[in-house]
Amino acid sequence: MNTNLDGKVALVTGATSGIGRSTATMFALAGAKVILAGRRNDKGEEAVEEIKSSGGTAHFIQADVSNATEVEVLIEKTVDTYGKLHIAFNNAGVEGEWVPITEQTEENWDHVIDINLKGVWLCLKYEIIQMLKQGSGGAIVNMASIAGHMGGAGVGVYSASKHGVRALTKSAALEYARSGIRVNDVCPAVIETPMAERAFGDPEINEYMRSLHPIGRFGQVEEIAQGVVWMCSENASYMTGQSLTLDGGLLAGPNPPVEG
Ligand code: NAD
Repeated sequence: MNTNLDGKVALVTGATSGIGRSTATMFALAGAKVILAGRRNDKGEEAVEEIKSSGGTAHFIQADVSNATEVEVLIEKTVDTYGKLHIAFNNAGVEGEWVPITEQTEENWDHVIDINLKGVWLCLKYEIIQMLKQGSGGAIVNMASIAGHMGGAGVGVYSASKHGVRALTKSAALEYARSGIRVNDVCPAVIETPMAERAFGDPEINEYMRSLHPIGRFGQVEEIAQGVVWMCSENASYMTGQSLTLDGGLLAGPNPPVEG
């Protein structure tokens, strides 16, 4: 087993909170120099300080993943800061408005698709250009979701964005496999983060959502971060174009009723 990322440079988008922040911390613990990208400067600097205080190497760059110029500059600044780019976790995302399709607005469609889907495409584009320039391969993980495997009443736009991410993963993996660039995605069920709190904070909805997870609980951010770090390490050297589903059994089939 080798999850040692010494000498590697890793980029995490949406690193100011939740799964992204935890994964940035875990990349640093594995020895990588980490670029944390996000929109919120104060939260980004706070996360960087936390990593540095544990002996890690990290730097924050402000960037909105839905803006092509900002993503291009993000990759340039990453290379200016640490010299190379070996690993990327395209994690930034939003849940948007969860209402039936007939009540959806064009604004919400554009907002969710711009960040969750166009954002991943833009990151892939500029990350891969840089990795090809370096000529030594790379490892990229895109953030999808179990909503990238299934529909859901009220979550049509979010679900469409995550299905799209899985399509981008597979296409990019095929295009760059011979260049040594592996591209995979991760598909979590509900993970306890600020996003899950916004979406499932209501006690009744929270209880219902929890009951859908055969394992009997929501996931923790570290349980996703572990999977992402593994996919970006040499341990996963034969894995590309795949989805790693971390869902407490949710997609395995109908959840049996709890006895008692
Ligand atoms: P979160 O709200 O805590 O984190 C999302 C991060 O993305 C934040 O740092 C936010 O500032 C950033 N972000 C949003 N829009 C951005 C933009 N335009 N540019 C740059 N950064 C932006 O939520 P989270 O749960 O940690 O979500 C992370 C990812 O995981 C999302 O893509 C989400 O869809 C996905 N996901 C979450 C869950 C869950 O249950 N929490 C399940 C499956 C997938």
